[in-house]
Amino acid sequence: MLIIKDISNLQSYLTAYQNRKYSIGFVPTMGALHKGHGELIKRSKTDNHKTIVSIFVNEKQFNSKEDFNSYPRNKGLDYDFCSDNDVDLLFEPSAEEIYNKDETILKNNNYNNILCDKYRKGHFDGVITVLNKFFSIVKSNKVYFGEKDFQQLKIIEKFIQEKYKFLKIVSVPTKRNEEGIAYSSRKKVENFLKTLEKSFDINTANQKAKDFIVEQDIEEFDYFEFRNNEDLSFNGKVSESRLFYAIYKGKVRLIDNLKI
Ligand code: AMP
Repeated sequence: MLIIKDISNLQSYLTAYQNRKYSIGFVPTMGALHKGHGELIKRSKTDNHKTIVSIFVNEKQFNSKEDFNSYPRNKGLDYDFCSDNDVDLLFEPSAEEIYNKDETILKNNNYNNILCDKYRKGHFDGVITVLNKFFSIVKSNKVYFGEKDFQQLKIIEKFIQEKYKFLKIVSVPTKRNEEGIAYSSRKKVENFLKTLEKSFDINTANQKAKDFIVEQDIEEFDYFEFRNNEDLSFNGKVSESRLFYAIYKGKVRLIDNLKI
């Protein structure tokens, strides 16, 4: 597995791949890799001749310096993970390599003011700013994102339609962990979902979601609501929706979305 840190070196490998007519799959990540990322890598390996994973903790998408500094980083384990998953090339640039000193931040205008965008102002601006950089550097055929971050996926779909028409976006279903905090709260949420009829309309389901939050005594949450799969609105039936939530367990913010 190649580990490359600078753009010019990366570009010589990309040129060699392109000359050989290899298809390239790209999996952008912020590292601290786990089985969820592994699903994206697996999918890219099935679809393409070569798979490139990037690891870059993007300061521009964090709301505070503190959150950025405390984001988990485990370089050695990530190298092992990528090598065990037969990644062809790991791209791990520094911030200086990616950003200019006075970098212009792009403005996301899609799916604004709801879900995560409502609570993490500017977060998605940072996401599309870094992807704009990465897409123009890596120039892959396909790029892979997880449904776990569903609003992000929808925003990136739009961004690619607007600016990177050559690129095909592939969405990968969420890999669920069987252990730990996230699982235990998810279990309760899953039981709640079982009590709902698919034929309910989304507004009725949201009333029940409010009751559930009160019953479970979940005091700290940013949102816990059903929204339409297609346009993230409140229109339609439960069968066409997902439950989106961002709740807190102590200091840990858990975000997920579930389909009935
Ligand atoms: P991150 O490193 O958290 O920025 O995530 C990189 C990519 O992995 C994003 O497209 C995420 O949606 C995706 N991802 C993270 N966790 C999971 C998971 N459990 N299942 C599937 N994809 C995931």
